[in-house]
Amino acid sequence: MKPPIVVRDFATALGLKPFKLISELMEMGIFASMTQSLDEGVAVKVADRHGYLLEIKHRGDAATQQAAKEKEKAKQVKPTVDESANLVTRPPVVCILGHVDHGKTSLLDAIRKANVAAGEAGGITQHIGAYQIEHAGRKITFLDTPGHAAFSKMRARGANVTDIAILVVASDDGFMLQTDEALKHAQNAKVALMVAVNKMDVKGANLERVKTQMQDRGIAPEDWGGETITVPVSAIKGTGLTELLDYILLQADVMELKANPKAEAAGIIIESQIDVGRGPLATVIVQRGTLKVGDALVCGPHWAKIRAMFDDRGQTIKEAPPSSPVRIIGWSGTPESGAVFRAVKNPREAEKLAEAVEHEARKETGTQDAAPKNVSVEQLFADIAATQAKTLKVIIKTDVFGSSEAVRSVLEGIKSNKVSLEIVSTEVGLVTKNEVLMAGAAGAVVIGFNTKLENGVTPLAKHHKVRVETYGIIYELGDKVREMMADLLDPDLKEVRTGAAEVRATFPLAKGFVAGCLVTEGKINRNSRARVRRKKDAVYEGKIEMLKRFKDDANEVRAGLECGIKLDDFNGYEIGDVIEVFEVQKVRASL
Ligand code: GDP
Repeated sequence: MKPPIVVRDFATALGLKPFKLISELMEMGIFASMTQSLDEGVAVKVADRHGYLLEIKHRGDAATQQAAKEKEKAKQVKPTVDESANLVTRPPVVCILGHVDHGKTSLLDAIRKANVAAGEAGGITQHIGAYQIEHAGRKITFLDTPGHAAFSKMRARGANVTDIAILVVASDDGFMLQTDEALKHAQNAKVALMVAVNKMDVKGANLERVKTQMQDRGIAPEDWGGETITVPVSAIKGTGLTELLDYILLQADVMELKANPKAEAAGIIIESQIDVGRGPLATVIVQRGTLKVGDALVCGPHWAKIRAMFDDRGQTIKEAPPSSPVRIIGWSGTPESGAVFRAVKNPREAEKLAEAVEHEARKETGTQDAAPKNVSVEQLFADIAATQAKTLKVIIKTDVFGSSEAVRSVLEGIKSNKVSLEIVSTEVGLVTKNEVLMAGAAGAVVIGFNTKLENGVTPLAKHHKVRVETYGIIYELGDKVREMMADLLDPDLKEVRTGAAEVRATFPLAKGFVAGCLVTEGKINRNSRARVRRKKDAVYEGKIEMLKRFKDDANEVRAGLECGIKLDDFNGYEIGDVIEVFEVQKVRASL
């Protein structure tokens, strides 16, 4: 893009609703309206977060780019005192990228299921952001947040946790927009690239076409004389997985991935969250050194004294060597994905360092003129409201992986132009307090399928006003979700005619006139909405202020009876007019 980068255009370029972008910017402390232009650094960051590489075309800034690169380099964990004597081979860290629906999640799950590390089969699979498997007696670590958004978030912070990127390409679709973007990211990150051609079992599978597309992109497959390992697989049938893993290990050997388990520990945050019972948790990947329970860590403004560590099966572990993903309890807060952490001498020092960083950060935001002066908050909210598309966010919990697939596909089958559906997450297990907190923060509803609620979920949900629903029948779930989506829309207003009366005479009052009527249909109620029709035309619409039977006020007059009717201050009744009475009912809007 060329500067200036205007919010509205930028949102379009990212395929985002402008309001979404505006609210994201707000989260970053930047208040911009639709028509405002963005700081380039901010734009690059935002683009990266959404998995795009933003190139800004202007002249003469090679020097600044160079400086940025240096800065980025400096952020990486330095392999300082890794004397070669202490270096040992470490497992590769692999991430899976590719276009939506090309099977990243399926592939990650298939690999995981088929290759649970020996002796660990007992545990329950936990999605902690990364997992480790064993293949041919060796370990491989996978980042299990598929999609390059997560990948680029890490990249944005200069953290390169990945050694090997597997680009998943569906054999029937071939390269698509996000495939190309993912490719660009992987190339920029300078990680080893492999291509898994997935869905080889489908009818339209066309391996040759994918290979041609690879060649066109300068990443010709190995068997065509290029350098890119290309493995046809089917995540669903489980074919080709062994070969894929073999190649990953081969690639790892070529890369000679090594680390010093004795060095001071350091690594990267994969994801973090707050757990109701256990406080802030963070999943990290150790890049060097070995983490031990009791170690003190510092990560930007956060620090930790490791109270406990868990692996991806939820088992406690005492030590975490290089390349292992572990979930750590004992943090002071939730460090950001992609941030670098390191071990320090003791908790006191960790806390001191973290505080210094926080102090520095506060100073920076204090001096930064983040809010452009000429946007009023009203304008901002008007912009947001004007572009706000309604979205139902759902967090799904199911009994087994298979049902989460089924739920997902039912939900994805719900089509609407008015409301979109966003599946925030799908996981297997009980509905826990965590989901409630997550839903509270995201404005989502929690939907359980064939699963139960953990103790304490109901009161917590009530407290946070989070809707939690469980179902046992998939179609019922689909119908309910459809209803919830429709409920986000303003209800359609439907008029129901409840009665009518014909004007037979007009009588003067102290002020104005009353219509002497015969009720011809249904009933007339005082305070109802009513319309005076003359032939086809409605001449007045209002509320029945006065309803009389003879001299007395009446609340209701039924068909066949005579009455006096007066609507508001209306006085222009003519003999032959029809007074129609109706109710306005709210009905659920259609999607
Ligand atoms: P992601 O968006 O890239 O994570 O893709 P998913 O893993 O969610 O898969 C998208 C859809 O493709 C799902 O309906 C999967 O069941 C289906 N799918 C994934 N892998 C395969 C495969 O190898 N063969 C077939 N036939 N379908 C697959």
